[in-house]
This record gives sequence, structure tokens and C-alpha cells, in this order.
Amino acid sequence: MRIAVTGASGRVGGAVAARLVDNGHTVIGLDLVAPRQAVPGVDYLIGDLADLEPSDPRLAEVEAVAHLGALMSWDEADAARLHHANVTATLNLVRALDGGAVRRFVLASTGEVYPENAPQYQPLDEAHPRLPRTWYGLSKVLAEETVAFAARTRGWDAVALRFSHTQHPAELLDPDSFFSGPRFFASRRHRKALAAGDHALAEQLAPYAGDDGTLLVARRSDGAPVRMGILATDDLARGVVLAVEADTTGYEVAGLGPDDSTDLGDFARDLAEAAGLDTVEVTLPPTAPGYVTSNTRARELFGFTPRITRDDMVRLAAEAHRERTAAG
Ligand code: NAD
Repeated sequence: MRIAVTGASGRVGGAVAARLVDNGHTVIGLDLVAPRQAVPGVDYLIGDLADLEPSDPRLAEVEAVAHLGALMSWDEADAARLHHANVTATLNLVRALDGGAVRRFVLASTGEVYPENAPQYQPLDEAHPRLPRTWYGLSKVLAEETVAFAARTRGWDAVALRFSHTQHPAELLDPDSFFSGPRFFASRRHRKALAAGDHALAEQLAPYAGDDGTLLVARRSDGAPVRMGILATDDLARGVVLAVEADTTGYEVAGLGPDDSTDLGDFARDLAEAAGLDTVEVTLPPTAPGYVTSNTRARELFGFTPRITRDDMVRLAAEAHRERTAAG
């Protein structure tokens, strides 16, 4: 197939584009920015998806789309930017494909549409009401609706994939990683707590400012584990490719995540042991994540099962950490 991958310069988009090329497809990569490392065989179109014109002749022969391009931000000040990048861009992409060969469309959505941090029941599945509490979550609800509308009115077969959190194992023990830095490193959580005005946590972690050798072992004050789904990016990319290549019809929604959620406290302890790092215990409020998701629908619809285990993640994270430390 001729397949357009949006967000092709991003971490998931790059992995999806590479897998699609390996599977023999012709891939066009769309992104705001050029990739740091181009995927061989991908033709890149650099520009803002929101600037696409209706019936774009460059996309006329595209038969399927993996729409992964998006902005992720939890900053209130980014509300309009999120709407532009995730809603207007999706709408204009749909219109740019009008009159062309496209028949299949896969959207990267997120568990933040529920949202996972305020579940009405668990495990969270596709039937859970969408009640987002962030501008990012709202932008993905509106993107889902735009894709459902396109499926209905254009006769496309479409799938909205509600991704769990995803990380390359190598990012897990990188203090500079956007997600994992403050999630696992006491020094980076201290910085985040200071910025958020969380004085109690900032004070507790003050001794670790500037110390990138100590990981946080977090528990919630209500005694519950801090839990969330973390799927290795290669598994997530494999799931996206399965959804693109599947023959589902109409509009479908599927959660794409691990078989089980990760207890971040236990995980941090195992990561520290594997990488020879220290730990410090912290207590977080009951609003800290504590959820379990379901990937049953993804298995039913296109045979998805994760392959990279929790133990693989720990081993690969420790290896990457040792390599980074050795390289200085
Ligand atoms: P990423 O930030 O690495 O990649 C996103 C890419 O989209 C970037 O290369 C960016 O330049 C591009 N982009 C943003 N706005 C654009 C626009 N207007 N026009 C063209 N390109 C634009 O993010 P990622 O981790 O690869 O995430 C991929 C998708 O998965 C996103 O849709 C994201 O919302 C979704 N998602 C990610 C996670 C996660 O844990 N990373 C979790 C749930 C959902």
C-alpha cells in the first residue's frame, strides 16, 4: 500500500514508518520538522498539517494513513496550540485526502480521553465514558470525533487507537527524558515539584537536587500502588502497523497498551538494582496514577499482544544507562 505516516519525525511515527517500509509498503512521512535520522525509503513532506489544502495532489494516491502527528502538553497556556495541532490539523488532513485513494485511517488517540487518572471503573476499556480533564485529552476526543465523522461520511475504514503511555526502554533511565526523568529521578522530580509549587515534596527531595543517581520509589498516601500502563515503543509501533494492515470495517476504537499495568514503585526498585542506582521512598497524593487498562479489543480486532516484557524493559534500560554513563 501507499501509506502516509504523520508525525513521522517523532518517536512512535519513526518506528511505525520503519516497520511499514520493512513490510514492503511505500511510505510518505509528514511532519512539522525534518527527522533527526531519516528512515531509509521514506519520502518526507515537511510542513504543518494544519496548513494542508483540501484535495492535496501530493496525497491523492495515499491508500492508508497512520495519523500520529500531534502536540503533547499539559500546560494550560498551550490550550490553543493543542487545538491547532491535534484538532485543526486532523480536520485539514481529512480534507486534504478528499477525492483521493484513501480507504483506511488509523488515529493515535490516548487513554487521557477517559481520563485514566479518574476512572469510573477498572480495567479501563473502550466503553468507559470520555470525560477528559486536560486540553490535551479534549483535543484527542475531538480528533476521534473528526475521524469517526470522516469514516461515516467518506466510507473509510478507521480505527482510533487509545495509546497507553509509551517509552523506549532506553529512555527509562535517562534523567533528561520528558516523561521518565521526573517519574523516576529524585533530582528531576524535585525540579518539577519546585516548578509546580509542591513545597512538601520539593523539601523532601531537596537533598537530591543535582544527584542523578537516586530513583524514586513512590507509593500513594492511601496505600495504593502508583500504577500505569507502560508499553515499549516498538510494541506500540507494531500495534499501529497491525491496525493499518488489518481489514476491520467502519469505525473501531481499541486501547493499545500492555497486558498489565506497572507498579512504578516496584519498577523503580528493579531499575535501580539493575543499574546500580540508589532509591528514596516518597509518598504521593491519591491523585497519583493508579489505573489498569485493557488491550482485549486490540487483540480481538487485529491480534495485538505485547512482546517486550517488564523484565526486558528493566534489562534494556540498565544497559542503555551503563552505555550513557560510560560515554560520559
Ligand atoms: P512525538 O512528540 O515524539 O511525535 C509527534 C510528532 O508530531 C513530532 O515529530 C511533531 O513534530 C509532529 N507534529 C506535531 N504537530 C504537528 C503538526 N501540526 N503538523 C505536522 N507534524 C506535527 O510524540 P510520540 O510519542 O511519537 O506520539 C505519537 C502520537 O501518540 C501522538 O499523537 C501522541 O498524542 C500519541 N500518544 C503518545 C503517548 C506517549 O506516551 N508518548 C501516549 C498516548 C498517545
